[in-house]
Amino acid sequence: METANIAAQKEKVLQVLKKRPLIISGPCSAETEQQVMATALGLKATGKVDVLRAGIWKPRTRPGSFEGIGTKGLPWLQAAKDATGLLTAVEVATPKQAEDALHFGVDILWLGARTTVNPFSVQDLADALRGVDVPVLIKNPINPDLELWTGAVERIDRAGIKDIGLIHRGFASYGNSEYRNAPMWHLAIEMKRRYPELLFINDPSHICGRRDNLVAVAQEAIDLDYDGLIIESHIDPDKAWSDAKQQVTPERLGAMLDEIVWRKETVHAMDHETLEKYRQQINHLDDEMIQLIAQRMKVADQIGQYKKENGITILQTNRWNEILEKAVIKGEKKGLSKDFITKYFDAIHMESIAHQNKVMND
Ligand code: PEP
Ligand code: MN
Repeated sequence: METANIAAQKEKVLQVLKKRPLIISGPCSAETEQQVMATALGLKATGKVDVLRAGIWKPRTRPGSFEGIGTKGLPWLQAAKDATGLLTAVEVATPKQAEDALHFGVDILWLGARTTVNPFSVQDLADALRGVDVPVLIKNPINPDLELWTGAVERIDRAGIKDIGLIHRGFASYGNSEYRNAPMWHLAIEMKRRYPELLFINDPSHICGRRDNLVAVAQEAIDLDYDGLIIESHIDPDKAWSDAKQQVTPERLGAMLDEIVWRKETVHAMDHETLEKYRQQINHLDDEMIQLIAQRMKVADQIGQYKKENGITILQTNRWNEILEKAVIKGEKKGLSKDFITKYFDAIHMESIAHQNKVMND
């Protein structure tokens, strides 16, 4: 590409990355030139897709499965991009793959879950990408470890990559049958709290591992204010060479995106002042709760002092059971679940014991 065209394409990439919701879709794997082109045209026709994804190198759990078409698939993606104007995105796991992808004009790179788990691989990629102006999306690691995910962001960030995004694709969990990869939403929310400025994408396909609950998971993500979705789409899903069970046709993808309620739009149309007032109330209540908890701990300190002076043990199980039982009954009357009250009081109890411990052993 000429320099002017390259600059124009880079500008286009930055614009597209700002679009909300940002929709990335395409086959799990590029298989044939015809399959990539037909899928891309189908996705373009929905009018809802911004980026064409395709796996070129596939990290498979067992050898002998289809491990990706390799570099020869990259020109297919380029042709699909020329035909549709969609941006392209590819998973890269080694410096050589990154180099090849960039050589064939791939717009966005992503690190797969099996790469994010390995700091050596992430660092190799970070070193290879130093000084390169390309957006990099980082999938969560396979295991539920936010420090690994954070570490990958730090390594890519320190290589000078300006546009980093996060993809939440769920976490492996032993014996979970409902999901292929359990979403563990709280971990994703914590990651979003750590990096509020980064693009945050949900990957319902790899969370679900099957088609029937893609919309439900996507909806949950949208309700949690994710910036976009990456969903696998294949022109003939049942015949896909990888992840056949979770892929949908471009047509079905278009219908699915129509089913999702994009609450952000609803919020825009809503009376912001009302929302702001509720938020203020919540802030006040949270402040008060912290004050009250702090006050409660002060009393715990005094109890600790008393117990110390009178040689009484910290933990008195009967007393605690009594507190908890009363709280559960009161809570349930006010519409608070037993589970919540138990967790909440357990946390309070632990903190209280820590306070008393400190007083008694100081
Ligand atoms: C993929 O996107 O096809 C893929 C391999 O995903 P993950 O890295 O999340 O397993
Ligand atoms: Mn896949």
